[in-house]
Amino acid sequence: MRFLLAVLVGRLIRFAGRFSGRATNLPGQVALRICPDFLGRLRFDGKIIAVTGSNGKTTTTNIIAHTLRQAGYTVAINEEGSNLTAGVATTLLSRCTLGGRMPQDFVVLEVDERYSPLIFREMTPDIFVVTNLFRDQVVRNGNPDIVFEKIESAIAPSVLLVLNGDDPISQRLAPRNPRVYFGMERTDRSFDRSQFLTHDCKVCPKCFHRLGYRFYHYNHIGGFHCDFCGYQTPPLDFAADHVDFAAGRFQINGMPARVTYRTIFHFMNTTAAVAACVQAGLSLERAIAGAATFSVSRVRYDEMDLCGRKGVLMLTKQNSASLDQSISFALEQPEEKIVVLYVNNVLYTENKDISWLYDVTFERLRGRVNSIVCSGNRACDIGVRLRLGGFAPEEYQVVEDLGRIKDAVGQTGGAVYILAASAFGDEDGILEALK
Ligand SMILES: [Zn+2]
Repeated sequence: MRFLLAVLVGRLIRFAGRFSGRATNLPGQVALRICPDFLGRLRFDGKIIAVTGSNGKTTTTNIIAHTLRQAGYTVAINEEGSNLTAGVATTLLSRCTLGGRMPQDFVVLEVDERYSPLIFREMTPDIFVVTNLFRDQVVRNGNPDIVFEKIESAIAPSVLLVLNGDDPISQRLAPRNPRVYFGMERTDRSFDRSQFLTHDCKVCPKCFHRLGYRFYHYNHIGGFHCDFCGYQTPPLDFAADHVDFAAGRFQINGMPARVTYRTIFHFMNTTAAVAACVQAGLSLERAIAGAATFSVSRVRYDEMDLCGRKGVLMLTKQNSASLDQSISFALEQPEEKIVVLYVNNVLYTENKDISWLYDVTFERLRGRVNSIVCSGNRACDIGVRLRLGGFAPEEYQVVEDLGRIKDAVGQTGGAVYILAASAFGDEDGILEALK
């Protein structure tokens, strides 16, 4: 009775929220208040695929759902960002029958790393994908070791794991569980030495001797090995190879694949999603074909005209690995450019941290872009970071007032790459200010 009430009240709130144009996690919050074991009372006809990790979980979740739908399956998926307990409950209460049955072939859930023990206490996924683990929102999450312990505590013995063989941190999760590994062979953008300030796994997590690398993809992700205990990148069950960044083409286990968004993150996420879909029952060929038609939301990457200049908007998370990869992408484009850094988390309840700015390798921008414009409510914090990194005052501008940003950008030349890390999804504001 409490369950039925929770579903009905939740749906009513959801309907009212939609009517007012606001989508929130309130329906799930209220449903969990009425029926605290709401998630545990659901019965799933199909399989549950859960996805977590520091970077790439939203995209990987979306690619998996898209690929399964392409193959003709019915899929329930949580909306972008609704990856906490109440968000998951909001998704499920809107898709279940009044008796608590989930009739879909698959339920694909993005799950917050920190909340996975709470969510998996009530329901057990069949397949669990972990994209990677990095330091991310340290004030909220703690360091990667703490996040590792949280995730590991959430994994039931029956869960099939899909793990990143190139990540020495998350690869060793729940060693007794069945698992497959995905990863990427050396590319023409691999490095022999780490290029970034942040390296979250300098020593072997098993024996604490120095970890060696055949190559780095980025940060601590790459072909690694410990000469002391033998811990290393395992033989890959799903290996991305022959990566052509310019053409967006590559191979998975020798079969041609492609992506529309040509960052190393996206090649990796696509490989992870293909691995999960094959474990869910698709053939490799079908999984690759489905994933190839996935297009990244224009919200995350967009190109536009800005007063006759090419503009590029890239959304990044507020962690160093994410912003470092956006910087890499900008630097890899051959045209002349400036970079506009937009960071805003002032007044954000979950995380006001800016320490991650000191983990980003901004130094790579020196001499390779015409100018750097620091903007958003954290404009001054970015400016301090650049100054401490040795940038001269004439190499960057700090523009706190969005009303002045068009003038500031107007004094520079080249394409405008806006790298936006906002907690509020308010990037439209800076685009409007630049048009
Ligand atoms: Zn070792």
